Amino acid sequence: MEITANVHLIPNIIANPYLIIDPDGLTLIDSGLPGNQKKILNYISNLGHAPSDLKRIIITHADIDHTGSLSALKKACGAQIYASKIEAEAMAQGRSSRQIQSGMILRKALMGIMLHFMPPIAVQTDVILSEGQILPSLGGLRVMETPGHTPGHISLFSPSTGVLFTGDSIVTREGELVRSVKANTWDEAKADESARKQAALGAQVVCPGHGAVVKEATDKFPKF
Ligand SMILES: [Zn+2]
Repeated sequence: MEITANVHLIPNIIANPYLIIDPDGLTLIDSGLPGNQKKILNYISNLGHAPSDLKRIIITHADIDHTGSLSALKKACGAQIYASKIEAEAMAQGRSSRQIQSGMILRKALMGIMLHFMPPIAVQTDVILSEGQILPSLGGLRVMETPGHTPGHISLFSPSTGVLFTGDSIVTREGELVRSVKANTWDEAKADESARKQAALGAQVVCPGHGAVVKEATDKFPKF
């Protein structure tokens, strides 16, 4: 599903993977739960591209719903994997980058069951990303450190198109943009700070890790 020029949301996958089309190849942001590589590769081929056209896979954070199909995609495409240092270290060890807070026992139990059936696969990152770096995609894709949901969480902003990829730092819930809260949040104060930073960008289109894409987004960011 094309959201805006050259940006696609690959549908029916948890969490949302986004595909960016550039003249020199394709960039994927996040890879969904394990077992979604076929859906992603089919989407790419339906656009008339070969698996080898996928040049970059950028990971916003090391949770399994964002990294699950990464290793299979890397094998199929040979794409380079990009992530922050903290999340890359977690991915290399096949673990989460933070402790799940003890507040929500049910959620923790569910996560335990999920991880039991889908043990995270250790994946090596090729390129370490940090604040302010600009990637050659979507007219210049700027890396923003947006810690809170996890310690090394990143978001990506394209100033020339106004498109912001927020991962789980900001998600859409019941039609509203909300920042990462509660049990699965590593640090709520940092999550707040990150969401403020993102609200100030003047982004037009928000592409979250979960929930619907939000357009004309400038006034729809969480209020402080
Ligand atoms: Zn997620």
